Amino acid sequence: MMYAASVSLGITVRLLAEGPEVSAAQVVRDVTVGDYTDPETVRTFAEGCDVITFDHEHVPTSILHDLEAAGVQVRPGPDALVHAQDKAVMRRRLSEAGVPCPAWRVVAHASELQAFAADLGGYPVVAKAARGGYDGKGVWKIDSDADAVELFEGITDGVPVVAEEFVDFARELSALVVRSPSGQAVAYPVSESVQTGGICTETVTPAPELTEEQAMAAQKLALGVAQELGVVGMLAVELMQRRDGSVVVNELAMRPHNTGHWTIDGSHTSQFENHLRAVVDLPLGDPTPRARWTVMANVLGGSVADLPSALLHCFARDRRLRAELYGKEVRPGRKVGHVNAFGDDLDEVRRRARHAADYLMGIEEA
Ligand code: ADP
Repeated sequence: MMYAASVSLGITVRLLAEGPEVSAAQVVRDVTVGDYTDPETVRTFAEGCDVITFDHEHVPTSILHDLEAAGVQVRPGPDALVHAQDKAVMRRRLSEAGVPCPAWRVVAHASELQAFAADLGGYPVVAKAARGGYDGKGVWKIDSDADAVELFEGITDGVPVVAEEFVDFARELSALVVRSPSGQAVAYPVSESVQTGGICTETVTPAPELTEEQAMAAQKLALGVAQELGVVGMLAVELMQRRDGSVVVNELAMRPHNTGHWTIDGSHTSQFENHLRAVVDLPLGDPTPRARWTVMANVLGGSVADLPSALLHCFARDRRLRAELYGKEVRPGRKVGHVNAFGDDLDEVRRRARHAADYLMGIEEA
């Protein structure tokens, strides 16, 4: 999706892909297949690139520091990106900056996790691997002293663990902003993100029933984080909204984000285009919505193997539906595409997006 945006901007893209079958490698012409955790591979790849950016945050920070030291432009730079890579570093920095976070503590033993829970008045608490998690993998709800012991017996593999207060949130929100090297920044309208089993299944933009004041506060928070950390490119601030309406930060991503896929059709400038504009230091595009409501629904791998053919039904039924398929092999629960629907009536827009995504997952209409 970032490549599609690069075409109209006239940017020549070179891709370092972890395998020949990954989505981006199917569309980008200049592909190097290699290991992004190997310093030599990344260094050789970076030679001849004007600027490096990412579509995930797993390139080791030390490699990126070495690239910067060698004069390569890395955007976002490692000093910013580390806050999307390491939840312990992120919590420390955001707390110091006065950004609202759940109560948290880095814990090294089961006894420390148990003590954290006791200090908060009991279970449940949440434990997270500081590095390497995604889509809820590496996040555990801890309900008892025994759970805490079990966690440290096997699951964490030596990675530092961040313990967090279990936030009994009313819903999850996502505040997306983009910032350029010269410091220009724009904010997208805040989305509600619906998570099922740790995976984002749907977003609604703008978040229903968010007051203007709350929306502006969330946008301001995200712009503040982007400025404070010196982010270049897209920043997604995932928020949990408590039942009293206040928000705390869940985590940060510094790349085009799943909760921003609605922008391809629902905003005047997509997150992919704005990410690239920031990375090459062009003026940023207008993030305002094109429609009253946009609903994005993720297509998770289900019983439909031939997704392109299944679009026949979706498009025949709904001429305004938009879809992106990622060219991935369909495996259960894997994100293999998404649909966007937009319009004036939220219930109807939501139904249209839901129907199409369900159809592409092989879920029969009730
Ligand atoms: P990942 O890095 O795998 O995306 P997250 O940190 O976003 O993991 O957590 C995944 C999901 O777990 C969140 O979307 C949220 O639903 C839930 N979660 C995370 N932290 C907490 C918390 N402190 N309290 C309650 N739920 C949480």
